[in-house]
Amino acid sequence: MTVSSSNRRERVVVVGSGFAGFEAARGVSRRLRRAEHSAEVVLVSMHDYMLYTPLLPDVAGGLIDPRYVAVPLANELPDVSLRPGSVDGVDLAARTLHVSGCAPEDEEMHWDRLVLTPGSVTKLFGVPGVAEHARGLKTVAEALYLREQFLHQLELAEHEADPQVQQARRTVVVVGASYAGTELVAQLHALAEDHAKQRGQAMNQARFVLIDLADRVMPEVGDTLGDRALQSLRGRGIDVRLGTSLEELTAEEATLTDGDVIGTRTVAWVTGVTGAPMLEALDLPLKKGRLAVNADLSVPGHPHVFAAGDAAAVPDLASKDKDAITPPTAQHAVRQGKAVARNVAASLGVGSSRRYKHRNLGLVVDLGPKYAVANPLGIKLSGWPAKIAARGYHLASLPRSANRWATALAWTAEVTSDRPISRLGLVSADEADFRTSEGIADE
Ligand SMILES: Cc1cc2nc3c(=O)[nH]c(=O)nc-3n(C[C@H](O)[C@H](O)[C@H](O)COP(=O)(O)OP(=O)(O)OC[C@H]3O[C@@H](n4cnc5c(N)ncnc54)[C@H](O)[C@@H]3O)c2cc1C
Repeated sequence: MTVSSSNRRERVVVVGSGFAGFEAARGVSRRLRRAEHSAEVVLVSMHDYMLYTPLLPDVAGGLIDPRYVAVPLANELPDVSLRPGSVDGVDLAARTLHVSGCAPEDEEMHWDRLVLTPGSVTKLFGVPGVAEHARGLKTVAEALYLREQFLHQLELAEHEADPQVQQARRTVVVVGASYAGTELVAQLHALAEDHAKQRGQAMNQARFVLIDLADRVMPEVGDTLGDRALQSLRGRGIDVRLGTSLEELTAEEATLTDGDVIGTRTVAWVTGVTGAPMLEALDLPLKKGRLAVNADLSVPGHPHVFAAGDAAAVPDLASKDKDAITPPTAQHAVRQGKAVARNVAASLGVGSSRRYKHRNLGLVVDLGPKYAVANPLGIKLSGWPAKIAARGYHLASLPRSANRWATALAWTAEVTSDRPISRLGLVSADEADFRTSEGIADE
C-alpha cells in the first residue's frame, strides 16, 4: 500500500464521478484555477466516465450506444487528477481515506476538503429471488444485459417447441413504474417491435408487464400526464398492473401479489434507490439512507466534509415542509454539484458560500417511438411537443458535444431505419448482477 505524503499542496478529494461528483470536480477546479489558488483537485472513481443515466432506457432499447451516455472524465476534466478506485474507508479525524481496486496498490490518501458524491444503489426490499434473478438499470452493464438477454430470449423462442416456454421467453416483467421503469418498458417494447418486423413475425407475440405497488404510473409527473402515459402504454398492449408488486421470483417465474404467476426469463427491478453502501461505514448520521447535510451541503460537525446528489439528504428549502429533503434526481445532483463546488472553493478562501436552493424545472419522460410526456416549468406536454422537449433537454444536458452529436444522430437514424438488433454478447448475467454491477452486498 502507498501512503501519499502530506508535504504538499492543499487537496480537495471528490468521491464518485456521477452527476454531482463531475460537476463538483469541474466547478471547484475552475474556481481555484481562476483565482490562481494552488490546491489540487482529485477525483476518485471506479469509472473513467460520468454516466448520463437518464438515457440508459435508450441503451437498453438498443436505440443508442452505451458510449454515447458515458462522458469521458479525461476529456472534460483536464485540471483534475483522476484516481481510479473505490473508497472503502474514511478517517474523519486524520483526514485520510482508503482507496482500493483498479490501481496495482491500495492508497491511503490525505484530504483537506472531502466531497462525498457516491450516489445511490438499487433498493432490493428483500423480495425473495430478486437479487439472483432480476437485474437493475443503474449501470451500463445492467442496461446492456437487459437488451441482450431479451434479444437472446426472442431468438430462443423462435426455436422453442413448448408453447409455454416460448411465451415465457417472449415475456418481460418490469417492476417499478416510476419514470425509469416506464421508459424502460416502452423502449424494450419498441425493440421487440423492430425485432418482429425484421424477422417477419407478428408483434403481439411478445408480452410486457409493468407492475407497481402505487396506484399511478410516474407520480412524479402528476395525475394528468401520468394518466396520458398510462393510456399510451396500455394502447400499445403493455399490461400495466397498479397496486401490485412482486412476491417472489425464480429463474422461470414471477409470482405477483395479485396471485398471478408469470413465466418469464427477463425481469427488470427498477423500484427505487438508497444511499451508496460506503455511507454506512462513515459513522455519520443518515436520513432515509442518505448522509445528513446542512443547507450549504457541509456535514454537521465536519465543516471540511461536504456531500451532494443522491448520497446526501439535502434540506429542501423550496418546500413548505421543514423536514423535506430534495429527491434523488439528476436535476438536483447537477445543481448540488455546482453548489458544493462554490462552497468548497469558499472554504479555501475563494468566493463566498451559499445555501442550496432550487426551483423545480419539471421532468421529461421519453416513452419510445413518437410519444413522451413532460412538464417543463410546470407546462404539461404530451406527444410530439413533449418528445421535442425531452430530446432537446437531454441533448442540452449531456456535458460533451461529441456525445450530443452521436446521440442526436442515433435518434435521427431511428426515423429512417429500424433499430440494430444484433447481440454483441458483451455482458454476462454475473457481470450485470446487483453485487458486481452496483456493489450491493447480499441481503
Ligand atoms: C434509468 C434511470 C433514469 C433516470 N432518469 C432521470 C431523469 O430523467 N431525470 C432526473 O433528474 N434523474 C433521473 N435519474 C436519476 C439520476 O440518475 C440520479 O439522481 C443521479 O444519477 C444522481 O447523481 P449522483 O452524482 O448523486 O450519483 P450517481 O450518478 O449514482 O454517481 C455516483 C458515482 O459514485 C461512484 N461511487 C459509488 N461508491 C463509490 C466509492 N465507494 N468509491 C468511489 N466511487 C464510488 C459510482 O460508481 C458512481 O459513478 C435516473 C436514474 C436512472 C437509474
